[in-house]
Amino acid sequence: MVRMEELFGINVFNDSVMRQRLPRETYKALHKTIDDGRRLDPEVASVVANAMKDWALERGATHYTHWFQPLNSVTAEKHDAFISPMPGGAVIQEFSGKELVRGEADASSLPNGGLRSTFEARGYTAWDPTSYAFIKDHILCIPTAYCSYGGEALDKKTPLLRSMEALSKQAVRILRLFGRMDATRVMPTVGPEQEYFLVDKDLFDRRSDLIFAGRTLFGAKPPKGQELGDHFFGTIQTRVQAFMSDLNEELWKLGVLAKTEHNETAPSQHEMAPIYAIANIACDHNQITMEMMKKVALRHNLVCLLAEKPFAGVNGSGKHNNWSMFTNTGYNLLEPGDSPHESAQFLLFLTSVIKAVDENQDLLRAAVASAGNDHRLGGFEAPPAIISIFLGDELTEILEALEAGAHYDGREKTDMTVGVHALPKFPRDTTDRNRTSPFAFTGNKFEFRSLGSSASVSDANVVLNTIVAESLRVFADELETAADFRSALHDLIVRTIHDHKRIIFNGNNYSPEWVEEAKKRGLLCMSSVVDALPCYTADKNIRLFETHHVLSASELRSRRDIGLDSYAKIINIEAETMLMMARRQILPAVISYAGKLAASCSSLKESGASLSCGFSVLSDICQNIDDLDEQIGFLADALNRKPDAGSPEESAAYMHDTVLPAMAALRGIADYLESITDRAAWPFPTYDELLFSVR
Ligand code: ADP
Ligand code: MG
Repeated sequence: MVRMEELFGINVFNDSVMRQRLPRETYKALHKTIDDGRRLDPEVASVVANAMKDWALERGATHYTHWFQPLNSVTAEKHDAFISPMPGGAVIQEFSGKELVRGEADASSLPNGGLRSTFEARGYTAWDPTSYAFIKDHILCIPTAYCSYGGEALDKKTPLLRSMEALSKQAVRILRLFGRMDATRVMPTVGPEQEYFLVDKDLFDRRSDLIFAGRTLFGAKPPKGQELGDHFFGTIQTRVQAFMSDLNEELWKLGVLAKTEHNETAPSQHEMAPIYAIANIACDHNQITMEMMKKVALRHNLVCLLAEKPFAGVNGSGKHNNWSMFTNTGYNLLEPGDSPHESAQFLLFLTSVIKAVDENQDLLRAAVASAGNDHRLGGFEAPPAIISIFLGDELTEILEALEAGAHYDGREKTDMTVGVHALPKFPRDTTDRNRTSPFAFTGNKFEFRSLGSSASVSDANVVLNTIVAESLRVFADELETAADFRSALHDLIVRTIHDHKRIIFNGNNYSPEWVEEAKKRGLLCMSSVVDALPCYTADKNIRLFETHHVLSASELRSRRDIGLDSYAKIINIEAETMLMMARRQILPAVISYAGKLAASCSSLKESGASLSCGFSVLSDICQNIDDLDEQIGFLADALNRKPDAGSPEESAAYMHDTVLPAMAALRGIADYLESITDRAAWPFPTYDELLFSVR
């Protein structure tokens, strides 16, 4: 039996290790950097580096790495041994302050979207002292930001840290207006619920689509999917439980607060939710979690699929991004509170999010756009491509009453003025019933549910922090100059509700009526990456990100282009994989099966038996073989005609408009052929085996 207290964080250079191992003065100086964002003194860095090295060596580490998050959503690491030559052929193990604080990464092959040309490939990594260093596979990993020589962000961490600063700055202005002088910083908190699939590795290894694309590109529907609802919260299979226990231990050792685990809706689908943390740490931890899920699965002869839509016909996987704002004094700004004062402050922060989401639907949609997530959003299983907010009936009624100047106090209608009356209590669970909403208020936090399962949570939180910072900036500008704070506050809240209530929708987001209704309300509906990503460089968005010093115009352009480029590349890989499987596996298999079937039918006929059904199956198969061959030709042709020198936008649009439909047509025929072909003749494992074999 593992003792969690002993296990938790044993591979993390965390606060208690620092307190034990650093001289008092160094510890205090480092804390100034961590808590107040003060620049780190080189002397302090040297002492910390040395202590970190000694600790890592004791724990069996041999190398260190600046662990960073480049723009392709995975993590990058280059290992350096703690080794320095000594005269006489000996070596010593060294690690300097300079090596801790800054690294140089010749990472010319990482995507940079034009921010850095290959001939000046240098990028720099800089330590993020707010996220603890940790040991993984004998490597001391130092969480770092990654920038170009000119200081442009080449990664997902830098803008996240900048957006946290921006949010803090504006939120503190608001708190001052409410007389809260104790809080000096406000930090976004994030709790990402991570969904994933587990499949047997022996089966995985026999499917090129899983190997190359991480998802199935062919596969007829099995007789049973998720329709009985018997998997969600069902008893966890023995093999999966062993995986989960192992995963928990690994995550606990790395200081990740893995808490909740359960079976999800689709067969073979599961979820893990950690306890929330400050946004940049939650983001680092989510990357570690995804990596560990993949590694630990292999120990159990399983493969963890993080793709958004590994199987057609059953739910795909997402990541619910629970988000709130906390002061450094531990106060949750989205907690409704008991007193009139707290209620007023809550309503202001709440409406700041409502305004932010309404004004920036495009950015929220763009932040979750990826080739994989396109298959999920709007698929009646995940939130639609339309962004709206669920507030729950009671909170909505309160806002409506405030707007109308009417009075609301729970069941009894009484006079209610912002800042004079406390909000009536609304039971938290009633705020969490609508699972179809992309952006739901769940009692004391918002849950942004549109993120893809494989994505870094950084993009979504960069957008969230920045757009809310902007609302708060506008609010603070108005309120700071108001003659009468209380009446200005009341007016501002009422006006914000009036201007942005169209974004609130408590109904069923999966219903076709909502699409119509949303159109009437003027809400955006962007169904693909190709629609969504270009908005990063709309004038309004460049202005927004530049105002808050989160991303410059060129950094935004690079993100848009990398996203579109990787979309085109992913679809190209998927299409090539389909061609390979269709030509080299499906076609030969069905032709050979048709030959055998023809021989059997002929010999039966010769023996005098009359068997019309054999021939009709045969002719169906032969017809579909011809169709399959034709569709292979169409898809190959579509790939051949791909524009070579187009802009990322043109390439992505071509893949979306021309290649994706050809892939769907090819798949349709192949899946039908699977359903009428001898099981033993099918060249790779089928959906029923993949989805139902892990016990
Ligand atoms: P559900 O499935 O009902 O949404 P879960 O327990 O699976 O609930 O997940 C809720 C997630 O929200 C957890 O990761 C939790 O830590 C996180 N969370 C709770 N409060 C906050 C908060 N104030 N800020 C950010 N995340 C939060
Ligand atoms: Mg959940």
